[in-house]
Amino acid sequence: MISYEFLTSKKTEEALDYLDKFSKVQILAGGTDLLVNIHKESPRLPPFDYLLDISKIPELKFITLVKNFIEIGPLVTHSRLISEPLIKDNFPVLIEAANTIGSTQIRNRGTIGGNIVNASPAADLLPPLIALRAEVELTSRKGKRALPLEEFLAGPYKTKIQPNELLTKIRIPLLGDNYYTDFQKIGRRKALSIARLSLALVTKIDKEGIFNDTRVVPGSATPYPQSFPKTEKAINGKSIFNIDLEEIGEIVSKEMVSVTGERWSTPYKKSAIATLIKRALGKIVEEVKTNE
Ligand SMILES: Cc1cc2nc3c(=O)[nH]c(=O)nc-3n(C[C@H](O)[C@H](O)[C@H](O)COP(=O)(O)OP(=O)(O)OC[C@H]3O[C@@H](n4cnc5c(N)ncnc54)[C@H](O)[C@@H]3O)c2cc1C
Repeated sequence: MISYEFLTSKKTEEALDYLDKFSKVQILAGGTDLLVNIHKESPRLPPFDYLLDISKIPELKFITLVKNFIEIGPLVTHSRLISEPLIKDNFPVLIEAANTIGSTQIRNRGTIGGNIVNASPAADLLPPLIALRAEVELTSRKGKRALPLEEFLAGPYKTKIQPNELLTKIRIPLLGDNYYTDFQKIGRRKALSIARLSLALVTKIDKEGIFNDTRVVPGSATPYPQSFPKTEKAINGKSIFNIDLEEIGEIVSKEMVSVTGERWSTPYKKSAIATLIKRALGKIVEEVKTNE
């Protein structure tokens, strides 16, 4: 059995003091990843002496509009994201992804911060957040630093967070006019992992119906979620009136294999990821045509 001392903070400053003073501290937010790992004595869990419960820090539970950004506190739960008008009006793709997470109980406890720092290849908020160009703010007693989320991720279940740092904010730039978004997911968590794949798509479509500034980020397709620049480039400049969805499907499959190499699951994933991009693009094309 893992043994540790339990610390709890009601203020960010106090949590930062603990992180500064003690080493080998595990931060506890909703606990839906961490407590499972502790219970299983997961080899992914580094040895730790202290468990620091931050779940009761009210200052880390905000969702606010600041100039051209929406700022989200790391303790915002998936359920809160889903019900928040600011998110609904600006980033429906985040709500679509949050809605697919676990069960009601998991969505009520699990937080956006925990989903990010746990950095699972299958974390459902990572693809839409990367596609939305989210930034993370990390705070320690030495100060604050901000990183694009895509750079913050360092591998499967790995990030660039330092032991004395707390994730204190997620900052997402507003999209502006004529942007369209979609999130697609297949498979259930309890099914074989082969059946789990997702994809976030963000794109701008100009008055002539041409795709611009496209962002394609699959989940569970690569060791950790990342942008697919070749697929994005292939979509940009195409018209909604004659884009060849089959061709884009082939490009996204090839790009996935260029990252992962051929594996036993590749034949399934190649066709599944092609299906996801075709569905996402098809849905957006229909939406634009209906709005015309
Ligand atoms: C049955 C079940 C089903 C699930 N289904 C899904 C699913 O469908 N999709 C999905 O994406 N996830 C799923 N999850 C995983 C989980 O619910 C999410 O990843 C959740 O968002 C994690 O948030 P948390 O607050 O519970 O994190 P915790 O478990 O508290 O923490 C996770 C990690 O993040 C660190 N951490 C948390 N907050 C901070 C912070 N502010 N600063 C620094 N480090 C921090 C912790 O130290 C820990 O390492 C499921 C989990 C379970 C048990």
